[in-house]
Amino acid sequence: MDDIARLLKELEAELSRCARCGMCQAVCPLFSETGLEADVARGKLALLDGLLEKLLDHPQGTMDRLNRCLLCGSCAVNCPNGVNVLEIFLKARTILSSVMGLSPFKKVLLKRILANPDTFNRIFQWGIKFQKWIVKAENKTIGTSSLRFSPPFLGKRHFVPLAPIPFHQRALSAKQAISSFRMTVLFFTGCLIDKIFPQIADAVLKVLHHHQIDVIVPKEQGCCGIPAISSGDADTMDQLICHNLEQFEGKNFDFLITACATCTHTIKNIWPMMVRDYSDDVKANISALSKKTMDINQFIVSKIGRKEGPPMPFNDPCTITYHDPCHLKKSLGVYTEPRTLIMANPQYRFVEMAEADWCCGMGGSFNIEHYDLSHRIGNRKLENIRTAGCQVVATGCPACMIQLSDMLSKSGEEITVKHPIEIYAESLKSLKQ
Ligand code: SF4
Ligand code: SF4
Repeated sequence: MDDIARLLKELEAELSRCARCGMCQAVCPLFSETGLEADVARGKLALLDGLLEKLLDHPQGTMDRLNRCLLCGSCAVNCPNGVNVLEIFLKARTILSSVMGLSPFKKVLLKRILANPDTFNRIFQWGIKFQKWIVKAENKTIGTSSLRFSPPFLGKRHFVPLAPIPFHQRALSAKQAISSFRMTVLFFTGCLIDKIFPQIADAVLKVLHHHQIDVIVPKEQGCCGIPAISSGDADTMDQLICHNLEQFEGKNFDFLITACATCTHTIKNIWPMMVRDYSDDVKANISALSKKTMDINQFIVSKIGRKEGPPMPFNDPCTITYHDPCHLKKSLGVYTEPRTLIMANPQYRFVEMAEADWCCGMGGSFNIEHYDLSHRIGNRKLENIRTAGCQVVATGCPACMIQLSDMLSKSGEEITVKHPIEIYAESLKSLKQ
């Protein structure tokens, strides 16, 4: 109850900064589809004014309206008053969930499964064994499949299936015979890269080793906690923060690196934002970690000094475009660096798509709960990718990769979806093991 009172107080102070100017309307991908004032940040903030009374009067309606949001941060980055909209939404969801409780489905998913990395991994292990019986291939270029029999809540998605061996189970390649490493980084893999896109983790290791960076990969690392806190489950988020801090303990590293825009944003911005009654030591640890956390593209460009390569006369370069993940550009200000790494590979010709930073519509659990709306928002992105006339679309977030793969595959496109670090890694010579 103390926590809720504290959160309500923090919320009130932040809400008072909103001038109701409506500048957030034009940039909201949700509003652009629905035209509903209730969907835009201004409408949600008005709803949260006097939350305590609304909690008592109409908690479910308040929660439903608050959940209609991609947490993309477009409103926050365009707010002239600097209202921290995402912080308000996450804290409000936490208050509402504490009062109303989670649905039985979310309780099992978040508290029983996600909060326990070992259980989470074992369930995926079963998924890998059984998926061959329940999925059928859809688009070979993109590598998507669909379920033979779709449960209603999954819709008729095209998805990239689980990797046969998750990254954390691989025997990591032996350290390179490099006598003097420039520095040491800790690689936080993230669930989607670990279980669906382990080739991105391979590319990260290849690039880091190429640049003589020593890498620590804690084997037992867990989820960053974003699915939990997006549902207002601050307890599971806490559990995962503590679990991960334990995995990092005693390890000496200069930077924590991720290749997932959402994991970077979560560890860097959300962990310190959602800190609860931790000891001073833990608070200091989270704050120090936040400062050391970086996206892989940003790390290679800013710390290693990698620049675009000279244009090489490839007869038939592959045309590539780039989609800016909201959490990378709007929440972390990283957008030139992935382009720099793509342009460092002379086998590709880079073309900028229109509205590269318009949200793809994924929004994590938003895509599960509002698939049709998510798809409608994604259609604008799909059109822009098509118009770019590319063979490959790159993006720095595995969640965006899932959405783009689904959209492209369902519309029958033959456009591959990759991470910029894969493109950059392709340009490097293979390392001798
Ligand atoms: S959140 Fe910011 S942009 Fe939106 S109405 Fe309030 S002050 Fe204006
Ligand atoms: S976070 Fe994104 S979807 Fe949510 S209100 Fe802001 S702009 Fe709209």
